[in-house]
Amino acid sequence: MYLDLHIHPTLKPYGKSYGKPRKPADSTSETSLWYQKHITDFNRLIESVLGFVPYPQSSLKDLKDGNVKLAVVSLYPQEVGFVKNKLQHLNNSEELVNLIAAFGENRINTLASPVFDYYKDLEDEYAYLKLLNGVSNPQLPGKYILVENGQHLDNLLKNSEEKGTILLINSIEGAHVFTHGNQPLNPNNKQQILQLVDQVKNWQHRPFFITLAHHFYNGVCSHAESFDGPVAKFLDQSYCLNNLHPSQGPGQITTIGKDLIRKLLDNDQNNRILIDVKHMSLGARLEFYQMMAEEYNNQVPIIFSHGGVMGENSNRFHFYNKDINLTNGDIISIAKSGGLIGLEYDQRIMGMNEPGFKSRLGRTIGSVFKNKAAKQLLWAEPVFENMLHVALVCQQNNLPAWDCLAIGSDYDGIINPLNQYRVARTFPDMAGSITILLDQYLKGPGQKLGSQYGLNAQQIVEKVFFSNAKDFIIKHF
Ligand SMILES: [Zn+2]
Repeated sequence: MYLDLHIHPTLKPYGKSYGKPRKPADSTSETSLWYQKHITDFNRLIESVLGFVPYPQSSLKDLKDGNVKLAVVSLYPQEVGFVKNKLQHLNNSEELVNLIAAFGENRINTLASPVFDYYKDLEDEYAYLKLLNGVSNPQLPGKYILVENGQHLDNLLKNSEEKGTILLINSIEGAHVFTHGNQPLNPNNKQQILQLVDQVKNWQHRPFFITLAHHFYNGVCSHAESFDGPVAKFLDQSYCLNNLHPSQGPGQITTIGKDLIRKLLDNDQNNRILIDVKHMSLGARLEFYQMMAEEYNNQVPIIFSHGGVMGENSNRFHFYNKDINLTNGDIISIAKSGGLIGLEYDQRIMGMNEPGFKSRLGRTIGSVFKNKAAKQLLWAEPVFENMLHVALVCQQNNLPAWDCLAIGSDYDGIINPLNQYRVARTFPDMAGSITILLDQYLKGPGQKLGSQYGLNAQQIVEKVFFSNAKDFIIKHF
């Protein structure tokens, strides 16, 4: 069984349902969460060249085929920054055509409309997910249940009647859903923001965690650079990138941002929403850790739901050495808090294109005639190296090496996937490859992890791919 801490199965079907009859229970309709598509060579080409994935990667059928039992669904009202900024001059550009291919034309038009409201859109995406919650329909390949809290999850996992059921938990990507990121500069929004947080905290299926930042400034904190390559040329994330504009500062988290954090973490009603530090700038993350120490006595577990590591001087050429990824200091702060780090299946973020892997590129070309298993090993290596780095940093700091790791694939989150692992049904393949690589490492002469509490490669992979995050959710949700 597998678990994904960060995945977007709703993004494409919900987007494509705009202005069309919604057919959630028809798995042949691209508006259904169960819609699975055959991947063509042309699709692969678009994906490699432009970095957009024009097919669903996380169809629920795929989760079922890949034995993904539990997935934390990231609800994400797309930011208007996608259709504003530089793109408005491009009209029928190639990029726009690809955005439409990925999200649907009506959806793109909706984002561009002046009345588009993030919070309303968030509720709408949640409502879409609820349509088939708990529904058994012989027309569909399976059933899913939305989980309400940790106890509920524990009960569902123990219930043999729900053995084949997929369990889904809500989360949110980007606090723009509360701050109405269209007008992040308006400081008078505080009451409204806190009211919206209250509403979400009272949802039947309360989100487990939320990232404060995302691709564009939203009034909460400075954000890290998230785009690169062709996409970065037409999307402008420069405002408050890495540093708050003086009108928004001082520091890297705004006053409203701090009030928002306190409101989310308020647990008087037993309904707190944890914070996911992904997409925050490094400065904002440091300020957040300080706030957790000063105001919460470090008792709040910190989540980094999807991403990789920056590495250190000796090995940084093997990693994507930009601060959207974790420094060693981040890893220590998160592990010390009892938090979670989800490894993302994005080749750029995992460092696949870095100089340290130049020889790997050669090997990639050389591997064209290799068998499938060999190719799978090759494309799993960067994930393995990121995972090992986290374990080593923990070990060097007297923290348990294998307790904070999980998988947060970010499928359907505008990623450039690892070529052998394009869709969620490859979960068992990835786990198999990582087991082989880890086993080789643990039995190799240079291994630096010692006996690791007597765990073998298979047991460690089980923790990373399922039970670490499962136990965490039961304990903290
Ligand atoms: Zn995402």
